[in-house]
Amino acid sequence: MAPIIGVTATLKEDLEPVGQRPLGSFIRADLDYVDGVLEAGGTPVVLPPFVEAAGELAGKIDGLLLSGGSDLDPSYYGEEPTTELGVTLPERDAFEMALLGHALERSVPVLGICRGLQVLNVALGGTLYQDLPSQFGTDGLIAHRQQMPKWQWTHEIEVSGGSGTASILESTELRVNSYHHQAIKDLAEPLVAVAYASDGVIEAVESSDLSDHWLLGVQWHAEAMRDVGSEHRNLFSALVNAAARYALRRAAA
Ligand code: MN
Repeated sequence: MAPIIGVTATLKEDLEPVGQRPLGSFIRADLDYVDGVLEAGGTPVVLPPFVEAAGELAGKIDGLLLSGGSDLDPSYYGEEPTTELGVTLPERDAFEMALLGHALERSVPVLGICRGLQVLNVALGGTLYQDLPSQFGTDGLIAHRQQMPKWQWTHEIEVSGGSGTASILESTELRVNSYHHQAIKDLAEPLVAVAYASDGVIEAVESSDLSDHWLLGVQWHAEAMRDVGSEHRNLFSALVNAAARYALRRAAA
């Protein structure tokens, strides 16, 4: 049976308070993520930000794809918002942090894309640059917010040879798109940085032992580059494969 991959929904940046509009009216599923899972042989299930169901949902999925989106509320890593913080979505933040907490407890395989990588790092105890251009140090910082369409690459990354990510990508040098306002500052202990842009910004992370608990995060929007190169599709296949192994282990337990 195809493993079930939960794909977190994006939300319209709707500023009406909770309870003043139906939840369904502001959910937005980005079909690139869904298609990426389908192409890789998984069964995608889009998860709305229903925080009360986070624990139950984590018990029903074989893999989790944390999708991209707006800035994460910095209170999750103990900071006040800086003046450059973008829009945050409280319902989505609360849901994804709760869902991920339960998924990590169960050792569900997780692929985080863009914001998803950042959420993964924060859930495991790391921090973020709230605003890369003003906080990273402007000397030599390359453009991480491209104006071109999402399928076009904008900068290169170097992937650590011998890492799990390099073997999944089948490459140690990659051209990627870049649509991120934030980035990893302090890396969470259970993660290893395995790819960097030329300015030193972390572009990919993985768990220290992928065979023990499969966690991987990429800072670029791989879902939008699936037609550009097999490297990007390989990330989805790797998640689905890890989810299939997890499903077998869970069935045997
Ligand atoms: Mn970038």
